[in-house]
Amino acid sequence: MSEGAEEGESAPGRQLRQLRDLPVDVLASLSAKKADALATWGVANVLDLLTKYPRRYIDRSRQADLAELAVGEQAVVLAEVRRVGQRRARNGRAIVELAVHDGTGAMKVVFFNQPWRARQLPAGTEALFFGKLDEYRGARQMVNPVVDVVVGTEGSEKARERTLRVVPVYPASAKAGLNSWEVGVWVAEALQRAGRFADPLPEQWRTELELLGRTEALTAIHLPESMAVTEPARQRLAFDELFRLQLALVLRRRVLERDARAIRHRVSPLEVTSGAGAPPSLVTEFLRALPFALTGAQRRALAVIFADLAGPLPMHRLLQGDVGSGKTVVAVAALLAAVQGGHQGALMVPTEVLAEQHFFAVQALTESLVVEDPGRLEGRRPVRTVLLTNRTTAKERARLTADLAGGDVDIVVGTHALLTDDVAFASLGVAVIDEQHRFGVEQRAALRDKGRGATGEEGADPDLLVMTATPIPRTAAMVVFGDLDMTVLDELPPGRTPIETHWARGPLDEAAAWERVRIEAEDGRRAFVVCPLVEGSDRVVARSATEEFERLAKGPLTGLRLGLLHGQMPAADKEAAMSAFRSGETQVLVATTVVEVGVDVPEATVMVILDAERFGIAQLHQLRGRVGRGSWPSWCYLLGSGEVAGAEERLSALETTSDGFELAEVDLRLRGEGTILGARQKGRSDLLLASLTRDRALLDEARRVAEELTAEDPVLDAHPLLADELRLFLDEAEAEFLFKS
Ligand code: ADP
Ligand code: MG
Repeated sequence: MSEGAEEGESAPGRQLRQLRDLPVDVLASLSAKKADALATWGVANVLDLLTKYPRRYIDRSRQADLAELAVGEQAVVLAEVRRVGQRRARNGRAIVELAVHDGTGAMKVVFFNQPWRARQLPAGTEALFFGKLDEYRGARQMVNPVVDVVVGTEGSEKARERTLRVVPVYPASAKAGLNSWEVGVWVAEALQRAGRFADPLPEQWRTELELLGRTEALTAIHLPESMAVTEPARQRLAFDELFRLQLALVLRRRVLERDARAIRHRVSPLEVTSGAGAPPSLVTEFLRALPFALTGAQRRALAVIFADLAGPLPMHRLLQGDVGSGKTVVAVAALLAAVQGGHQGALMVPTEVLAEQHFFAVQALTESLVVEDPGRLEGRRPVRTVLLTNRTTAKERARLTADLAGGDVDIVVGTHALLTDDVAFASLGVAVIDEQHRFGVEQRAALRDKGRGATGEEGADPDLLVMTATPIPRTAAMVVFGDLDMTVLDELPPGRTPIETHWARGPLDEAAAWERVRIEAEDGRRAFVVCPLVEGSDRVVARSATEEFERLAKGPLTGLRLGLLHGQMPAADKEAAMSAFRSGETQVLVATTVVEVGVDVPEATVMVILDAERFGIAQLHQLRGRVGRGSWPSWCYLLGSGEVAGAEERLSALETTSDGFELAEVDLRLRGEGTILGARQKGRSDLLLASLTRDRALLDEARRVAEELTAEDPVLDAHPLLADELRLFLDEAEAEFLFKS
C-alpha cells in the first residue's frame, strides 16, 4: 500500500520524525532569545511546536461588543490598547491603567501589582480581556482581567493577523515571555515551510471514517479559515492520538499471542451451570458448596473465563466489577479450574492485610475439596492453599517454596513477595491479580513469567486474570488495559441494602454520625472510623491514627470497645486487631486506609470517614464498600468541609449514587484523562486533543482500525510510516518489544 498516494506519487510528504529532528531555531521568524523561552515551555523542535495546539479560538465576527456590555456582566472583550499609564498608589502598589476600545465602545483596564503589564500591552496591541465589567467613579472598567495578547504591535505581524478571521489562542504563558500571537507566527511559518505531510492512515480508512487528511487537519487546527473546520481538524488529530495507543496495545497483544505457550485447561463453560452434562469436577463441587447462588453476571463471567482457559491461547482478561460484586468467588473458581487439571493457581494482592483476608476466604471456600494425589496411599488429598508475604518467616518460606516447586501446594495467596526469585512453581496454570491499580505492567509480566520456570524453556504461560478494585470508565479501561479482554460484573448479589451516605458538613451532622455508631454497636453491629489522610512517613500516619483513636475513646465514642489498625503495627497486633473486630470483641475499628482494600466483615454497618474531602472518589467508594456487606441497612458518613478543590462535587457525587461505574465517569470528568491514565502515559503518548469523555466513538473506531489493520499486517510491514510513527511516540523498550521479530 502506498501511504502517500494522496500527496502525489513521487512526494510522500513530510513525516513527523523529520519535524522532531528539526530544532525550532530553523524558523526565520524566531530569535535566539525566544528559542530559549520556547525551551522553557517544553518546545525544542518543530514537532513540539506543531503539537502545542490552540487552547481556543477567537472568531472576530462574534465578539462581545463593549458598547453592549452591561456593568456587572462577565465577558471576553477583544479590544485594542489606546493608551497606557503607570503610577503608584499611596501604599506603594504599582498600578497599570489601560484605555482600550473595540470600535463599538471603550473601557479602562486596571492592573494592581502587575507592573510588567505595561510592557506586555503597549499601545496598538490587540488583546482579549476576560473579566467582570465594573463601574468606578463613573468610568467603566475591568480590574485584573485575564489577558491573552492576540495581535502584537509589529507591522508585519499585525498585517498577517489582520487577515485572519479566526485567531488561534495558544496556551503560551506570559511568564515564559511568550505571547499567543508570536507562537501563531512561528507555527504559521513552520506549516508553510513544511509543505504537505505524509499521512500514515491508509486512504481507505480516511474515507470510511470521513476524517480529514493530516495536512488539512494540521492547517485547520492552527490556521482555521472558519470556526466550522476546527472540530473536524481536532477529530482527525485526536484520532491519531487514540489510534497510536490502540495500535500499540493491539500489537502488544499479538506479540504475546504469537510467542505464547498456552495450557489447555481441563474445564468447560458447562461447569458453571453445575451439572447438566458437565462431569463432576473440583469446580462444580466448589460452586455447589457455595452458601449462595451465583449472580447472573458471575455466571456469565465464569463461562467466558472457562472458555478462555480451555482455549488455545493464554487468557489475558480484565474483570471489572463494582465493590462487593463478588469478584473473589470468580477468581477462586478460575484458580480451581487450574488445580483440577493438575496445575497451580496464584492470587496476588497489594497488601498483607488483604493477602491474609483472601487466604482465609480461599481456605474457607475450598475446605471440603480434595484433589487427586497418586503419591498418597488414599490417592487423594485436601486442596492445599498457602499464604506467602514478606511476613512469612525465612524458615516457613523455605518450606513453602519447596512445596510450591514440588507441586504439593495447589493455591498460593500472596503479595509482591510472590515475585521474588526463590518462588518457583511446579506448574503455574492460572494467575489472578486483585486490585490491579496497585501493580504495574511489569509486575503483571513478572507473575506471568513464573509459569515458564527459571530457565524460561520448559513450562507454559499461565492464564491471567486481572481484577480492578473499583470500576474505571470503559474508555479509560480501553486505553490503560487495551491489551486485555474485558468482562464486567454488572450486577450485585441480591439482598444488598443500599448504603445511606451522608456528607456531614457541620457539628450537628457529625454528632448524628457518632450517634449512629453507638446505636449500631449496641445492636451488635460494628463500625469503621477511617482516619484522615496525613502527609508524611508511615510513622507520622501511625501517630495521627493513634491520636485519633485516643481522642475518640475519650470523646464521642467513650464507653464503646475500640480497636486500632494501622500499617506500622507489628504483624501479630494487626492480625489480633482484625480478628477482634471480626468477632465483635471490639465494636469500632479506628483505622488508616489499610482497610480500603477487600476487608470483609458482614456485621460492619457504619463507616465514618474523617476529613473525607481529602480523599479521591474511587478511594471513598472503595472505603464505603467495606460496609453494606451483610443484610442490614448501612450508613456512611463523610465528615469534612467542601473547601478543598473539587470536594463539593466529589462528596455530593458519593451522596447521590452508589454505582461505581457512574462514579468512575464523574471522576474522569472532574480529574481529566491525565491523572486517570497516570504512569501508563509516557512521553509523547499523551492525549492532547482526545478526550476520554467526549471521544468515545472515535476511540471505538481507533480500536477497530487497529484490530483490522494488524490482523492483516501483524508487524506493520506494509505500513512503514505507521510503524515509524509508533516508534517515535513510544518509549524505546516498548517499541523494542512490539517490533522484535
Ligand atoms: P469484591 O468484588 O468487592 O471483591 P467480594 O468478592 O469480596 O467483592 O464479595 C463481597 C461479598 O459478597 C462477600 O462476602 C461474598 O461472599 C459475597 N458474595 C459474592 N457472591 C455472592 C452471591 N452470588 N450471592 C451472595 N453473596 C455473594
Ligand atoms: Mg475484592
